[in-house]
Amino acid sequence: MTAAKTQQALGSIRAFLLDLDGVITPTAEVHERAWADLFTRVFEEHGAAPYTDADYFSYLDGKPRFVGVRDALASRGIALPEGMPGDDPEFDTVCGLGNRKNAIFARLLDEEGVTAYPGSLELVAEADALGIETAVVTSSRNGHRVLRAAGLEGRFETIVDGVRAAELELPGKPAPDTYLQGARELDLPASACAVVEDALSGVAAGAAGGFGLVIGVDRGAGADELLEAGADIVVADLADLVRPLREARSSAG
Ligand SMILES: [Mg+2]
Repeated sequence: MTAAKTQQALGSIRAFLLDLDGVITPTAEVHERAWADLFTRVFEEHGAAPYTDADYFSYLDGKPRFVGVRDALASRGIALPEGMPGDDPEFDTVCGLGNRKNAIFARLLDEEGVTAYPGSLELVAEADALGIETAVVTSSRNGHRVLRAAGLEGRFETIVDGVRAAELELPGKPAPDTYLQGARELDLPASACAVVEDALSGVAAGAAGGFGLVIGVDRGAGADELLEAGADIVVADLADLVRPLREARSSAG
């Protein structure tokens, strides 16, 4: 997208549909700590080599929960039964450990909270000031809990999270359906909304949905990779958009 087209899009959009983890809150850090808490104990109980930060990047980062548990256990030669997805967090099964990790994640969020990215809050405040709506679209089933932990409950017009997506049987990103649901709940066409995402699957969802603008936030995925996956523009921090947005609105009159 050319600079002029971006300016035009920023001048005319009526809503931002924002991803949560990695866009509004640095939730990855909380996940990392929850995994460390879990496997430090589990490895100790099994007399295995101690858990280290490298284990997170090798076996856990970015993977679905039960897959991560399986891979981390395999790295220490620990064999546990698979169990069932609904297993009690106290069960010593792959699913039980995965659910225990989620319980630790929830406890850390509730006890310590999470601090939203200041630049993201700046953009949301600017959007409010300009009469642009904001909504959260996340595949996380912990969406409401994360927003509450960040002190942002009630801050957004609507929230489409993993729980709601499951209720509505919407396929996850890179399918555009959850973002389209966000636009629908705001009563806006996709073309009037900007999608804001830090993940390749997320910008791909934005590109597939025919949205007015797809903004990539580079938290490590890589600017080139985000552009290639479907972002129209990429910023390092959402604060970088505040001025262009204000200028686009004033020149759009
Ligand atoms: Mg994300």
